[in-house]
Amino acid sequence: MPHKVDKEIFDLINKELERQKTFLEMIPSENFASPAVLEALGSVLTNKYSEGYPGKRYYGGNEFIDKIEQLAIERAKKLFGVEHVNVQPYSGSPANFAVYMALCKPGDTIMGLELSHGGHLTHGWKTSVSGMLFNSIPYHVNKDGYIDFEELEELAKKHKPKIIWCGFTAYPRIIDFKRFGEIADSVGAYLVADISHIAGLIVGGIHPSPNKDAHIITTTTHKTLRGPRGAMIMVTKKGIEKDPDLPTKIDKTVFPGLQGGPHDNTTAAIAVALYEASLPEFKEYARQIVKNCQVLAEELKKKGFKLVTGGTDNHLLLIDLTPFGVGKGLYAQEALDLAGIVVNKNTIPNDPSPFYPSGIRCGTPALTTRGMKEKEMKQIADMIYRVIYEIKDYEFSKDKKDELIQKFRSEIKQNKTIKQVRKEVIDLCKKFPLYEGM
Ligand SMILES: *Cc1c(COP(=O)(O)O)cnc(C)c1O
Repeated sequence: MPHKVDKEIFDLINKELERQKTFLEMIPSENFASPAVLEALGSVLTNKYSEGYPGKRYYGGNEFIDKIEQLAIERAKKLFGVEHVNVQPYSGSPANFAVYMALCKPGDTIMGLELSHGGHLTHGWKTSVSGMLFNSIPYHVNKDGYIDFEELEELAKKHKPKIIWCGFTAYPRIIDFKRFGEIADSVGAYLVADISHIAGLIVGGIHPSPNKDAHIITTTTHKTLRGPRGAMIMVTKKGIEKDPDLPTKIDKTVFPGLQGGPHDNTTAAIAVALYEASLPEFKEYARQIVKNCQVLAEELKKKGFKLVTGGTDNHLLLIDLTPFGVGKGLYAQEALDLAGIVVNKNTIPNDPSPFYPSGIRCGTPALTTRGMKEKEMKQIADMIYRVIYEIKDYEFSKDKKDELIQKFRSEIKQNKTIKQVRKEVIDLCKKFPLYEGM
């Protein structure tokens, strides 16, 4: 980091860089963008205003910006096999709101997977505007952790939603887009596939694409797709057949409906990420993410861990910690963090204590970007096992939580096993260097 004008901030950036280099990043929505993506993000493009779309801007001087945005659009169309793409949404949540405003009026009925079953806030959860403005009817997973299509079909027939959302944040299995499409069609709803988590797997050919079944596809660009923080909204051939004005409606809702000037530096970084995702290496990368996750799942199972759905088809898995006691996701997350393994606590389907989740969610996209393979997954499964074993004697109860959490925190810091695992994590990270020379 060369420019040390603001020492305070650059010291903190460097500390964060060091943290990323020396921890095992296993939050499934995170990844490491390439130096080329970072270069585009940190470029002079951040200086420009370009409200509007290529060829139709409200400001002058957009000759090169137009070319950049056009390239991003063309690359996305080709890679995802869709008819229309908007690359301007600032992030995943605003992209989803643009879809709502293009298709619905306040009060309309919408359906998404229940948040605590793996859905996203913007798919109708009550603390999100999506749950306040619309009549949100959630669907669920069944007792085995798979989408309950019977329930979905029944609810859809009864409530006739305008939109059915599919695409999730904590679902370890292949999404049956075809089935979703049939149900949406049977009630005249729009199927919107939010592929934020799995966009990279779809481009890599390791997860089916929703481009034949959904009308609209939204995605973030910073998760498995490994680009900058940003998002895209895509309209499929099926979407245009349902409503030929969809592309115009989406574009108008993004700008001027919800946003002002696009972040042109982000647009360029998205274009770079899409270029990288079109290379043969990316297919190999996507395949390795899933292979790594499956090895991790098998190894954890061998050690006696219970996984939601019993395993994984994609980049993430959910460990059900209820055999260690209810509500212990926080303990697991904090103990693993001390050991240098970053995961997040997560509800499991039908969690006995949704406010104090009983599971953790971990994934392999970032580890795979570092070059880790099956051998390292076995090593990491063993580390996770040793760390989580240390929390088993710590009691959790909602009523005495402050006291219990405090006791846990003060003692776990001194734990010898965790200190030992921390050393092993640092050694492992050194073997898979990240951002060399930065
Ligand atoms: C991450 C995610 C989003 C939101 O993206 P942000 O960029 O954090 O706003 C939306 N939907 C799904 C399914 C996601 O996983």
